[in-house]
Amino acid sequence: MRRYEVTKEDNRLIEEAYSALEKAKEPGNFYHTVGCCLKLSDGSLYHGVNCDCIHGSCAEFVAVGNAISDGRRGSEFDTIVSVHPDGAAGLFAPCGNCRQMLMEYSPQIKVILADENGEIIKTDIGELLPLAWTRLKTGDLMH
Ligand SMILES: [Zn+2]
Repeated sequence: MRRYEVTKEDNRLIEEAYSALEKAKEPGNFYHTVGCCLKLSDGSLYHGVNCDCIHGSCAEFVAVGNAISDGRRGSEFDTIVSVHPDGAAGLFAPCGNCRQMLMEYSPQIKVILADENGEIIKTDIGELLPLAWTRLKTGDLMH
């Protein structure tokens, strides 16, 4: 698996994701357990937490929607990280649905997560979703 150096800036993204999760705490009511931080190529940060309801929404979707609704585009996405206090190294690997979403919006994005040994790593989304279904360069869906 291709790996990139986990930098101080990456560690700041982890802190930002925890900050988003902390702001969302609502004990006894909704349970927001995953925080997310999405960094764009110009350094802008967008945050998300999971939405706790019957069908829910992952924190990654909320962060991406936050950026898109602010006029940003997937081509600007640089790095994403999600956190969960009980996750390996305090991180949370994106689920399969999120991996697909990230691949479609931003095939160049890097993901910070813990490897099988609990070490924090940074890798390409393509490494987490090999032989992925993708959109054609025309923007049309590939059937
Ligand atoms: Zn997900």
